[in-house]
Amino acid sequence: MKRAIFPGSFDPLTLGHYDIIKRGVRLFDEIIVAIGINAEKKYMFSLEERKQFIVEAFKDEPKVSVVSYEGLTVDFCVKNDVEFILRGLRNPADFEFEKAIAHTNRDLAPIETIFLLTSAQTSYIASSIVRDVIRNNGDYTLLVPDSVRVK
Ligand code: ADP
Repeated sequence: MKRAIFPGSFDPLTLGHYDIIKRGVRLFDEIIVAIGINAEKKYMFSLEERKQFIVEAFKDEPKVSVVSYEGLTVDFCVKNDVEFILRGLRNPADFEFEKAIAHTNRDLAPIETIFLLTSAQTSYIASSIVRDVIRNNGDYTLLVPDSVRVK
């Protein structure tokens, strides 16, 4: 059973995340989308809203589940029998950042990080840009799955 975790903030879920998860479904038996809780971070959407956006977007995909977690991603993996961490790569900045984290994680536990290259159509999308568009009343619906709507 190949089980992967896709960790992130998902504030909110974007078409970039959606694409990585959809493609990950073809590689793994199960994908746990794991919303990391960082007490020092301020979020635009509550944990419950962020969770709901993902649950709704993948309601027809039985291989995808959604959880939230605190602490180290590798600790979550060891406790929950997860062997792979799935991450997306958009650009060289992502690569440098992800490389350091992946190497650190490998020091901490025997867990492989698997990288999927962003799709051409979604490579420019980031949650921070989506939040900016929302704050300034722009049409954010072009950048996110239908399940993500601002009340
Ligand atoms: P974090 O708070 O860790 O940056 P995010 O929710 O922003 O979490 O991202 C989670 C994962 O999704 C990361 O691996 C990130 O590189 C990936 N990701 C985000 N946007 C895209 C995109 N447009 N294309 C591919 N991967 C993406």
